[in-house]
Amino acid sequence: MRIAMGGISHETNTFCSGKTGLDGFQEREWAEGQEIIEKNRGVRSYQGGIIDACDRLGFELVPTFYASATPSAIIARDAFDEMENRLLTRLEEAGEVDGVVLTLHGAGVTEGIDDIESHTIKRVRDHYGPEMPIVVTLDLHGNIFQDSLDNADALFGVNLYPHTDSYDRGVEAVEMLPKIASGEVKPAMHLTHLPMMLPSTTTDLSPAKDINEICWEWEKQDDVIDCTFFHGFAPADIPRVGVSVLAMTNNDPEKAKKISEDVASTIWDRREEFRPEINPPDTVFRMAMEDDGRPVVINEKADNPGGGGPGDGTHLLRAMIEANLQDACFGFIHDPETVVQAHDAGVGVTINVRLGGKKEPLHGEPIESGAYVKSLTDGRFIQQSPMGRGRRVDLGRMARLVINGIDVIVSTIRTQTLDDEVFRLHGIDVTRYKFVAIKSSNHFRAGFAPIAHRIIRADTPGLVSADLSTFNYKRLERPIWPLDDGVSWP
Ligand SMILES: [Zn+2]
Repeated sequence: MRIAMGGISHETNTFCSGKTGLDGFQEREWAEGQEIIEKNRGVRSYQGGIIDACDRLGFELVPTFYASATPSAIIARDAFDEMENRLLTRLEEAGEVDGVVLTLHGAGVTEGIDDIESHTIKRVRDHYGPEMPIVVTLDLHGNIFQDSLDNADALFGVNLYPHTDSYDRGVEAVEMLPKIASGEVKPAMHLTHLPMMLPSTTTDLSPAKDINEICWEWEKQDDVIDCTFFHGFAPADIPRVGVSVLAMTNNDPEKAKKISEDVASTIWDRREEFRPEINPPDTVFRMAMEDDGRPVVINEKADNPGGGGPGDGTHLLRAMIEANLQDACFGFIHDPETVVQAHDAGVGVTINVRLGGKKEPLHGEPIESGAYVKSLTDGRFIQQSPMGRGRRVDLGRMARLVINGIDVIVSTIRTQTLDDEVFRLHGIDVTRYKFVAIKSSNHFRAGFAPIAHRIIRADTPGLVSADLSTFNYKRLERPIWPLDDGVSWP
């Protein structure tokens, strides 16, 4: 078989100020043709899985266009149109193929389109016509709509958060194509939406872990292809946001409906278990100090760049400085200006910084302080987390500063921390520290859970807050749990 692959992936936080342009994608991931294969071969990513599966099955893979940006503000319409047209043009240039795999997200929003994935899938469907097998991989944070089901043959969402199974979904997508093409499988999908939003919730722990187990139990049946619990992406002010369950059977729509409704009703019945406990930094420091072990990893979820946080928020770092924490490191905060200042000064020099707090007022004021330049790097390393292992990471020039005794790493590029490689790069062994602070919601767990004595989330104000009542929704369909009382379903 000859398989075309491509996609556009973005998790849009509509509460972020500004717009995401092409530069946001070019900075993170932008590849055309063979470059997609060169960047992803051997990587634990969707594309890595697609490449390996095609190799194993003897399929010819035709890479087209793939772009992905770190989660951020609404995509500028001209940027989206440019990327979507590029994808379509590349698919057209690919000539005759026997199947298409798209790697999309599910929570992409551009001006005038609340669901870019449905839009792209429809354009690809219109291009190839009804007979072409089209399979799509999605993120579990997708706010999934019926239109996507109508124009794709099969959708495969990651089941795990941290997303350590994106590679497996890529493999699964490729394996499905010949079965659809030969008629061996006729996927029947059913999607059930719940009037419910989740703050980001790891599947490492209950209750999300239990829901996955229920899905996997269904998948053991021969005619059940897939069952995915989509968490949705809450910081998106579009009408339909939230949890959905997608079930897929072989040619049994009634059974797909039954599975998806059955799993959805379990989630609904257990919804109160998803309500997060909110703890400010001082409470978290006390909890950590009462605990003998180390390191205690403290994650500032509200400024997770992986959910649209600016990555330069100062609430947690300021609280650490004010609490006079020692034996503490912070990795990392996004501030290109401070990186330049540190590199210009050189190692061993004390500089006066205005660190972070420059992008979104909600995330706090800059920290004005003397800072000792401890080390300087190029920001390059190979990701070791089970999520995306093998990926070449380039965070631009970086600096390790010491502020009030705390080791603080500063980056040029905005992204979340996934493993301790960035600390190692700067000469920090996190297992020697009591407090290890990072900006991430849950993806860091894949890299840090094996070495952390304990993980505690510190809640600060921010664009990726776990407290959904802090978002000023205007377009969202109400009522919805947990914002409103007395929400009923079905
Ligand atoms: Zn996700």
